[in-house]
Amino acid sequence: MGHIKLTNVAKSFGSVDVLHDISLEIADSEFVVFVGPSGCGKSTLLRMIAGLDRPSRGELTIDGKLVNNVPAADRGLAMVFQSYALYPHMSVRQNLAFGLENTKMPKAEIVERIAEAARMLEIEPYLERRPGQLSGGQRQRVAIGRAIVRRPVAFLLDEPLSNLDAELRGSTRAELAALHARLSATMIYVTHDQVEAMTLADRIVVLRAGRVEQVGTPLELYNSPANRFVAGFIGSPH
Ligand code: ADP
Ligand code: MG
Repeated sequence: MGHIKLTNVAKSFGSVDVLHDISLEIADSEFVVFVGPSGCGKSTLLRMIAGLDRPSRGELTIDGKLVNNVPAADRGLAMVFQSYALYPHMSVRQNLAFGLENTKMPKAEIVERIAEAARMLEIEPYLERRPGQLSGGQRQRVAIGRAIVRRPVAFLLDEPLSNLDAELRGSTRAELAALHARLSATMIYVTHDQVEAMTLADRIVVLRAGRVEQVGTPLELYNSPANRFVAGFIGSPH
């Protein structure tokens, strides 16, 4: 579960071509990081996988099933945004429960999932607070918790740490790595931060102006960058 495949996927907004001919296969439980400069199409690519945008051309499959026309809610994925996107008028507990309550899931199961996520992320003391009463780091944990309770086959994270200060970014990054090991779900992680990419990724996808420049492990990209752009981005001396 969590095997994602893109075949010749392209995206245009009106007459503007944002993504060109992206073919990419992401294995179950893999941690894949999309990197590239601002505006290169990272978020658009993630949003298409999530189902928030539709490809203009090409095929997108999840676990072998064509999902081009499958709504976001039915893809078995969970997205975490940079901006947290929490509901300010709800408690942390209600934020975590949101989206599970209008499924047929039994109440006891919802309670158990929230307890498990809260334990994992160490946010138990804050469950009755509202997002406005939390620090940025705590809010980001809640946003991750809201993804965890859904038990998705893949997590899609769009620059989840970019609102945190440097110290918190480091510790949260380490927690994400631990979480990935523990959940063994696929993770697709967007960043423009080389350190995050190099430390978190099983494989890195380098994007430039809507095209894939190179795909490889951090070591492969560092040792054998395909071109100067990749070398510059990865910080390789080659
Ligand atoms: P990144 O996340 O790498 O910074 P984005 O995927 O957000 O880049 O954007 C890639 C390009 O697509 C940008 O030029 C952006 O202006 C354009 N774009 C993104 N979403 C839309 C949209 N809904 N309508 C028109 N252009 C868009
Ligand atoms: Mg973006």
